[in-house]
Amino acid sequence: MKHKYLPGCVSGDIVTAVAMTEPGAGSDLAGMTTSAVEQGDDVVIDGSKTFISNGLNSDLVVVAAKDPAVENPHQAISLYVVESETPGFTRGRHLEKMGMWSQDTAELFFSKCRIPVKNRLGDKGMGFLMLVQKLQQERLVCAIMGVTVAERILEWVTDYCRQTAISVSGKPMSKSQAVQFALVEMTTEVKIGRTFVEKLIAEHMEKKDVIIETSMAKYWTTPNQLK
Ligand SMILES: Cc1cc2nc3c(=O)[nH]c(=O)nc-3n(C[C@H](O)[C@H](O)[C@H](O)COP(=O)(O)OP(=O)(O)OC[C@H]3O[C@@H](n4cnc5c(N)ncnc54)[C@H](O)[C@@H]3O)c2cc1C
Repeated sequence: MKHKYLPGCVSGDIVTAVAMTEPGAGSDLAGMTTSAVEQGDDVVIDGSKTFISNGLNSDLVVVAAKDPAVENPHQAISLYVVESETPGFTRGRHLEKMGMWSQDTAELFFSKCRIPVKNRLGDKGMGFLMLVQKLQQERLVCAIMGVTVAERILEWVTDYCRQTAISVSGKPMSKSQAVQFALVEMTTEVKIGRTFVEKLIAEHMEKKDVIIETSMAKYWTTPNQLK
């Protein structure tokens, strides 16, 4: 699979998506109901997913699905690579969101979708563990986006305040002390975010366990985009 798909993923010719979330299973991933029944050399997938990034644009979807015969939900989930042209795989609505418009968010449906069992990623039943192991990296990526978006917004706001005159005095808005206070406060928060995230990137690259700190970074940096 690595030889077949990864070169296209790296060159950008293959757009991928990861489909975990379902209408009834978000934070509680173990509650998913999409099933994957392995039958000889094939596996048959049935169920639906929602809020999937690149759901419409993807050529390849990594689908988390459960073996209904396994009781423990944490040992029942496996990951399967589904090509977009596979019969039984269809796409639903393009969901509207506030930002990140270059990346669609969509619903996906699987109805008797049959793929080769060799398209299972890793060992059977290890899907939950594999997804959880990547949470640190995913949260860190969210924090990096939070910092960089906030930095860009701050640049735009600062330029706007420099270039726009206050109607009463005719001076640029940036000369107003009240505006300066607000800009300094924003700059400080963005700088704190960047300093923290840069430290975490270094620790993540050293393969340290910083899952708690990356969660804190995501919590701290993402609301800064909206302030
Ligand atoms: C833009 C966007 C892109 C996405 N892309 C993908 C994707 O590519 N692939 C994918 O699989 N999913 C994707 N998702 C889905 C995302 O992972 C889920 O939205 C997320 O898991 C939360 O699930 P939910 O929306 O059902 O919220 P819920 O799980 O219903 O949670 C609702 C609220 O309740 C809180 N809550 C939930 N459980 C508890 C608890 N036990 N204790 C206390 N509070 C709790 C949550 O913190 C949240 O505030 C995307 C979502 C968005 C918005």
